[in-house]
Amino acid sequence: QDPFPRPGRIRVITIANQKGGVGKTTSTVNLGVALALYGLRVLVIDLDPQGNASTALGVEHSVGTPSIYDALVGDREMSEVVHPTSASPNLRCVPATIDLAGAEIELVSVVAREYRLRRAIEGYLQGLPEHERPDYVLIDCPPSLGLLTLNALVAGDEVLIPIQCEYYALEGLGQLLNNIELVRAHLNPGISVRSILLTMYDARTKLADQVADEVRNHFKDLVLPTVIPRNVRVSEAPGYGQSVVTYDPGSRGSTSYVDAAREIAERGVALTPLTDVRPGGA
Ligand code: ADP
Ligand code: MG
Repeated sequence: QDPFPRPGRIRVITIANQKGGVGKTTSTVNLGVALALYGLRVLVIDLDPQGNASTALGVEHSVGTPSIYDALVGDREMSEVVHPTSASPNLRCVPATIDLAGAEIELVSVVAREYRLRRAIEGYLQGLPEHERPDYVLIDCPPSLGLLTLNALVAGDEVLIPIQCEYYALEGLGQLLNNIELVRAHLNPGISVRSILLTMYDARTKLADQVADEVRNHFKDLVLPTVIPRNVRVSEAPGYGQSVVTYDPGSRGSTSYVDAAREIAERGVALTPLTDVRPGGA
């Protein structure tokens, strides 16, 4: 199949929703693998102390493994904590170890604490030769609006919000959008919500349709046309250290994530280079 188009510039996408279990990690991993399998270079940054994205990508994340913690709180360069993945040579991962659980507190006393991740990513990208620079950096956030998520919002160019087609799907969304507005006003003028992904859609329930309609009425074109169905293969895959896209390529879970990734990639073609220091922009 044809490769996905390369974006007009490096896209740093923050996958955020302070609700747990809405599909942040699953979406980060599967979109990342799909983009990589279709020819784009991807870096996944696991910013959740649980390390679920690392697990799903088959990347070691036991205590002592060089991880995002070392780049955020410690004094390692990002380049020292980037690991290869078995999913694709195009896909690399910065894992999270449980040490990261302490970072919310440790970061409080760090200088420019909100900018740690942004600086780490910028330094990393600048140090890479052009042909090794990722096209996409995907950041998987923890289920809270603390300093880790704040770092991810300051580091990103765009936010992707997964919304579960379930009861209370929209609960907390206002708070998330307010936080994004605050970050835009004070810390990172470049950030905005660019995509909303409906996840765990169950066609047998009326509720799923109601939630999907409500989200589309409210967010219009921000909502990706493709909806991710509830599919047991999706939830099985991490147990094998895999994304569903590699674990069962023919499953509906896999094909829908590939479709969603293509939509994201196609939206990225129109992006014009940034004029700031972020490399790839020139
Ligand atoms: P979050 O990162 O937002 O907490 P996860 O991506 O970890 O959410 O998903 C929560 C749970 O739901 C996980 O056990 C995951 O395997 C499962 N899951 C996610 N998406 C699907 C899906 N489309 N179909 C079935 N199970 C899913
Ligand atoms: Mg998660």
